[in-house]
Amino acid sequence: MCEVPLRVTRRQEHILEARFEAGRQMYNALLDEARKRLSLVRQSIWYTKAKKSTNKDERQAHFAAARHAHGFSAYALEAVADEMRRTTWLGDHLDSHVAQKLAKRAFEAVQKVALGKAKTVRFKGKRGLHSLEGKSNAAGIRWREDRVLWNGLELPMVTDVPHDPVIQHGLSSRVKYVRLVRRDVRGNTRYYAQLVCEGVPYQKPKHVIGNETIGLDIGPSTIAIVGDTQAKLTLFAEEVARDHKKIRRLQRKQDRQRRANNPDCYDEKGRAMKGKRPTKKSHRQLETEAVLKEQYRRETAHRKTLHGQLANQVIAIGTRIKTEKLSYKAFQKMFGRSIGVRAPKLFLSILTRKAESAGGSVEEFSTYRTALSQVCLCGQKHKKRLSERVHACDCGVFMQRDLFSAYLAKHVENERLQAASAYEHWQGAEPLLRTAWQQAYNQPASGRLAPSSFGTYRSQSGSFEKESLPEHEARDVVVMAQVNARARESAKV
Ligand SMILES: [Zn+2]
Repeated sequence: MCEVPLRVTRRQEHILEARFEAGRQMYNALLDEARKRLSLVRQSIWYTKAKKSTNKDERQAHFAAARHAHGFSAYALEAVADEMRRTTWLGDHLDSHVAQKLAKRAFEAVQKVALGKAKTVRFKGKRGLHSLEGKSNAAGIRWREDRVLWNGLELPMVTDVPHDPVIQHGLSSRVKYVRLVRRDVRGNTRYYAQLVCEGVPYQKPKHVIGNETIGLDIGPSTIAIVGDTQAKLTLFAEEVARDHKKIRRLQRKQDRQRRANNPDCYDEKGRAMKGKRPTKKSHRQLETEAVLKEQYRRETAHRKTLHGQLANQVIAIGTRIKTEKLSYKAFQKMFGRSIGVRAPKLFLSILTRKAESAGGSVEEFSTYRTALSQVCLCGQKHKKRLSERVHACDCGVFMQRDLFSAYLAKHVENERLQAASAYEHWQGAEPLLRTAWQQAYNQPASGRLAPSSFGTYRSQSGSFEKESLPEHEARDVVVMAQVNARARESAKV
């Protein structure tokens, strides 16, 4: 996929606004329809039968019958979209391909609920729909040479970008379909065309691809990477987490303004009152909201860049990657909002995509079966609390916990830890891991595990935010100091 910015005139912008709004309303209507159909499916006799049935094939057949009876399918919903286009004003703004894609999107959202992968669907609020796409490059939204054509609109690409090799590559590939994206950048609305192309995505020539097997340990804020010849312990999207303070400050400002503008929505203790929604917005509050929106956009972009860079570093070592399945919910329970800022799960999905396009794979195995954070090479199990950041066993293994579990992850095959092979290679790997640990501790510039960035000892005046790193990382420093002391002692002897 490649993305190019488009040049849009005032008049065209008005037309696009109307089409995006039509798209939003259609999407919401389709979502509602799909939801109704799902509830009918769930009330149907077939569904009850399927639930009772123990035979797998029979179950499937009953479910299929239930879905069929109430038209719960992407195809049926596409027909609804076509009907909407014929009978309402929406037809003046949207062509059938775009409408059908919206139906597919709405269906997939409800399907997630049906399969238990999501709790609920989200309707799109005002200006909440950010993209519209076609089905093929033959009709509807389509790409011709250097511009998007869509039902009377002609939107040329901004001319100074073609030098970008990624775009060059995209423009020279065959376009499958085009997606129009609307974004607010610094208070202005910008439109982009995303060309979904056939063939392999562009790979920057400087990206090396390694061939080692890699074990990863992804924590809420840290990541340990262990290959055959390289190991690394570092923090996730650290710069983003640091800059997040700015956003928190703006959010508090916005909250104060909301309270000041809607005093009758809060009681004397400042609690929001039930049934009263703060709707009034001052000019200043709108300003804050605009700034905040821009900050959100930047944060997202920054995080994506950092994740991409880190993923490239991993790929440079190797593309056969093994790691424990991430439990986002467990993370969130323990670490709250900071998870959203660092987004480890997003990192994993970026890494997976990159590894796969480089011919590798990311293998995720169950935490419960392997319990890597507890086992040792000697076979003993040590239950550790989360705050214990070092694996120390009587058998002599003494290692930073994340690095050690990444090392073990490297030796997992088919959801089983290959203890013998892990034991065999430990002698060779240990110095590597130790170096990684020491580097993480000693290099404030790149690793940022240095005490100065913990903030645990310095209380920031007036701030209620706990922006500092989790306590456990502070302990690493203490332990590392012990390690260094030991090393010095042994050097003397
Ligand atoms: Zn042991």
